[in-house]
Amino acid sequence: MFAEVLLVRAAKDIDRAFHYSISKELEDQLKIGHQVVVPFGRRKEVGYVVGFVDQAEVPRVKDILKLNRSEPLFSEQQVALAKWLARHYCSFFVSALNLVIAPGTGKKERIRIGKVREQRAESRKQSQETALEPTQEQAVAINAIKAAVNEGVAQTFLLFGVTGSGKTEVYMQAIETVLAKGKSSIVLVPEISLTPQLVQRFSARFGDSIAALHSHLTIKERKEAWQRISSGEAKIILGARSAVFAPAPEIGLIVLDEEFENSYKQDQSPRYHAREVATFLAKQHQAVLVLGSATPSIETYYRAEQGEYAKLVLSKRIDDRPLPPVEIVDLRQAGGRVLSSALRQALVETVAKGQQAILFLNRRGYFTFAMCRACGQSVECPNCAIALTYHSSEQKLVCNRCGHSQLPPSSCPRCNSSSLVYLGTGTQRIEKEVADILPQARLLRFDRDSVAQRGSHERIFATFAAGKADVLIGTQMVAKGLDVANVTLVGVVSADTALQLPDFRSAEHTFQLLAQVAGRAGRHHLPGRVIIQSYTPEHYAIQAAVKHDYLGFYLQEIESRRDLNYPPFSSLISLMIASKDHGLAEKAAAGIGQALKQRLPEGILGPALAFIPRLRGETRFQVLLKGREPEVLRQALKDVLGSIERPSGLRLTIDVDPQGLI
Ligand code: ADP
Ligand code: ZN
Ligand code: ZN
Repeated sequence: MFAEVLLVRAAKDIDRAFHYSISKELEDQLKIGHQVVVPFGRRKEVGYVVGFVDQAEVPRVKDILKLNRSEPLFSEQQVALAKWLARHYCSFFVSALNLVIAPGTGKKERIRIGKVREQRAESRKQSQETALEPTQEQAVAINAIKAAVNEGVAQTFLLFGVTGSGKTEVYMQAIETVLAKGKSSIVLVPEISLTPQLVQRFSARFGDSIAALHSHLTIKERKEAWQRISSGEAKIILGARSAVFAPAPEIGLIVLDEEFENSYKQDQSPRYHAREVATFLAKQHQAVLVLGSATPSIETYYRAEQGEYAKLVLSKRIDDRPLPPVEIVDLRQAGGRVLSSALRQALVETVAKGQQAILFLNRRGYFTFAMCRACGQSVECPNCAIALTYHSSEQKLVCNRCGHSQLPPSSCPRCNSSSLVYLGTGTQRIEKEVADILPQARLLRFDRDSVAQRGSHERIFATFAAGKADVLIGTQMVAKGLDVANVTLVGVVSADTALQLPDFRSAEHTFQLLAQVAGRAGRHHLPGRVIIQSYTPEHYAIQAAVKHDYLGFYLQEIESRRDLNYPPFSSLISLMIASKDHGLAEKAAAGIGQALKQRLPEGILGPALAFIPRLRGETRFQVLLKGREPEVLRQALKDVLGSIERPSGLRLTIDVDPQGLI
């Protein structure tokens, strides 16, 4: 018998398993998942055992030298997962394997120490069985999921439920069934640090069987959690995207809450989507997958319509609490003011009643730019070709991509005119406007700067939830998870800043965001109200959000996807070709584009300069592969990239199923 060993080092020509013989001493110990030292060429290298074979591929096989660690770091099932990941997302095998390896043993880990100890202490509470009497709709959903869990079939459910309809209760009751079968459940949320309330609810119900994987656990704590999960001591795993790789020995249920969120997509190789990984795992473990949302992604809803997923609907909020009425203000008629009179008045009324308000800015539109009134040029980053944003606290222009900062120029860099103006609606500017109308009100700003000053998201949220501020001003981060009874007004400062972006998901993102922020108002006994300001109030994404009409939005959006042949009617792979040497990038992009077009005469778009044409000093070209069969696209890309020369200084980035095109 021979061992298949994958080197820890990631590089193109060694991204496969090599065969080694096994000495007498190692014979009884060696398992899949062991980290070993092997001779490689003239050197010694560290690798992982990923399998065993009867026949070696070469006649002269060398012995594994020794075990590097005594405990295996992953299982055979996890190797299968990593293989699938590497193939599906066109990444290195070892990069995919790193995702499933216990923390602190493979790649380097970032360490951040937060309020962890407190939270752990809290999670050591005893469980109370406190299941709620389900509503009729909940009961239908719970029974369907339980039946699938009991049968042990890999079925996917879309739990389509409006905000506040009791989806979390459905998850928890399904988990009870999984626990009774002795299996583990993985519950994924978009941002675990933004959902402390959810963690508390789970701890209150399940006590010690929980492992909450926060991003700011230390390596030691992470290892401990990993250990508790793999031993089966912790059978309920709560976490963000990467928790999908938690080493639960037997998975019975995986939940993705708010499954449409962008944060489920990893932004470095392997660029996986947690939903697709969960789908693979569910098949591997014969587990049930529940995708929960009030605003499912278009792909997910389409799959449910096609019968691929079973759809469960929670159409009403608990206690029949109404969804808040949404009013719309046409900014074209607001006289150039950032806050319309309707929104000002609503703010004043809300604060006068002792209630709380949230003002929300779309992240893409919340910056202040320096622009020349004479020629229209904005002051751009020399490395990235995107507009610098003005930070009034430091009186500097800063690049939000690469960190470059400079003093504002006294004249326009293009035409030399001295009429530079500062445009845009930054959170700081909104804060000032609100302070002018409500001088007595306590304002809380939530953005990168204020988070840096005040320490953490959690602290800002806790301050607001405790009623120590009247108005919270922030970007879409404030849309996530916040559940404060006293919030009765949500104002969206400008709803449409994302609609102008050249991305097939712009409308979907806009709709989801608006629906989500609207869901922050009037969640409990006080009735809520939402005011959306927009320059394009007639847009169907905004109209549908006003009416809380997901289905109406879906029906229009799916037609547009069909017309333009975008997902779910096609698959996409984005290839980014970047270099500090503009000529090199351009030449390589042209060559790759041509070779791809020869392989696939239809379905290659580009090469074209990327939406952000220069980033961190690199010129970027993009080629988009589009087609019905993802496997055909993948193979074409693999063949072409395998056959071309890759000069040094050229960086290629492959994104399979990109979430956006910019
Ligand atoms: P969602 O996850 O759909 O936004 P939640 O699960 O947070 O909704 O439920 C909203 C509120 O309703 C929570 O405070 C929850 O405790 C309560 N709730 C859920 N199900 C029930 C039920 N069957 N009976 C009474 N209250 C419920
Ligand atoms: Zn920059
Ligand atoms: Zn100018």
